[in-house]
Amino acid sequence: MTDLKIFDRMESEVRGYVRSFPVVFNKARGSVLEDESGRQYIDFFSGAGTLNYGHNNPHLKDKLIEYLHTDGVVHGLDMATSAKKYFLESVDRVLLKPRGWNYRLQFTGPTGTNAVEAALKLARQIKGRQNIVSFTHGFHGVSMGSLAATANAKFRGAAGVALGNTTFMPYDGYLGPDVNTMAYFERLLEDPSSGLDHPAAVIVETVQGEGGVNVATQRWLRELQRLCREHDMLLIVDDIQVGCGRTGRFFSFEQAGISPDIITLSKSLSGFGLPMSLVLLRPELDIWKPGAHNGTFRGNNLAFVTAAQALETYWADDAFEQQVQAKERQVRDWLENLVHSYPDAGLSVRGRGLIQGLVTVPGEGLANRIAAQAFEQGLVIETSGAHDEVLKLLPALTIDSEQLAQGLNIIERSVAQCLSQRTTKARVLKLGGAR
Ligand SMILES: *Cc1c(COP(=O)(O)O)cnc(C)c1O
Repeated sequence: MTDLKIFDRMESEVRGYVRSFPVVFNKARGSVLEDESGRQYIDFFSGAGTLNYGHNNPHLKDKLIEYLHTDGVVHGLDMATSAKKYFLESVDRVLLKPRGWNYRLQFTGPTGTNAVEAALKLARQIKGRQNIVSFTHGFHGVSMGSLAATANAKFRGAAGVALGNTTFMPYDGYLGPDVNTMAYFERLLEDPSSGLDHPAAVIVETVQGEGGVNVATQRWLRELQRLCREHDMLLIVDDIQVGCGRTGRFFSFEQAGISPDIITLSKSLSGFGLPMSLVLLRPELDIWKPGAHNGTFRGNNLAFVTAAQALETYWADDAFEQQVQAKERQVRDWLENLVHSYPDAGLSVRGRGLIQGLVTVPGEGLANRIAAQAFEQGLVIETSGAHDEVLKLLPALTIDSEQLAQGLNIIERSVAQCLSQRTTKARVLKLGGAR
């Protein structure tokens, strides 16, 4: 039994993930976490998408250690440093130039919500309007500005003040597969008496990571871009969780062929789990006054070192992209087989790239039981969605196919176990009712 007494005694009740994974983790390498007792776990959570290249990735770690050994600048506010210069050059060479894109970079405070706050603030300044459109089940962070654009009732309820200046529209698929929710949004925009205050911007995730692995179709995203252009709204893609390669390309919206006005990146941007966030903005939108938006930790140079190295190592050509696509097929085929093996269980699969969800029937707690069972068997995996009904697979992009198969096997056993318990329970209930 793991001793978590000091955490229970000293740490605030607000703690979350330690409750799902009640052990003391000690070491981590690649896709394997190890606890204090030496027990190993395969990691299908990857720090909620922060460790796309695995734990302690040797390519990044070596650069980092080398940098520290030479007394490279660690904290630099937003002063120019060699590490930052090299990161800017890498972004230009690896991400922007090959795509023919032109974006300015705004370095914000280190967490994702800091980038979202900056993006929303800038959009409101540019358009001189307060309202922002966000989507049902959207997640954009928990500081006040981004929380207003976050749909989840648990997080909203913790705010303690009114969260305003945001209108929620139905995400793709929200009203079922046959309803085009974009038609509703368009109708509201066209009707001067719809009650919708003209939005400055729309903020969207192409795949809703926290909201239940809801996937927007390419067509829906292109329609959204068209609406933004026709109605003078900025398009902000929040690529914090599903960017940095998670869906197969570096940016999640590339396959849709859209070009957002503003992009937010964080989570796997440093590649090493070091905090770092970024806002990409079209140059003509850069109306910031010098120093008008700041933050002490905008210059985490250690993160710049690993971020640049991640770009150079994995994104300079398309070899890595293809590996991710092969792993996507492995996961997808396997999950679809699992769903077919239990035709009466109400299971389904959705996702893109290496963010895939095994969707269970809401309200039964099944996904949480599968996750708990999987943890017992040595797999770290989380659930998401409004009712925690989606088992979310988020392995490192660098995981080898053997470890991937091991993790998938644990899920399969856990599903089998949880479903057989359910059948037994149902039988007992039926027998009880017959009496
Ligand atoms: C995690 C996340 C955020 C917030 O990032 P933090 O680092 O937790 O502040 C914002 N948007 C999306 C899409 C995220 O997944």
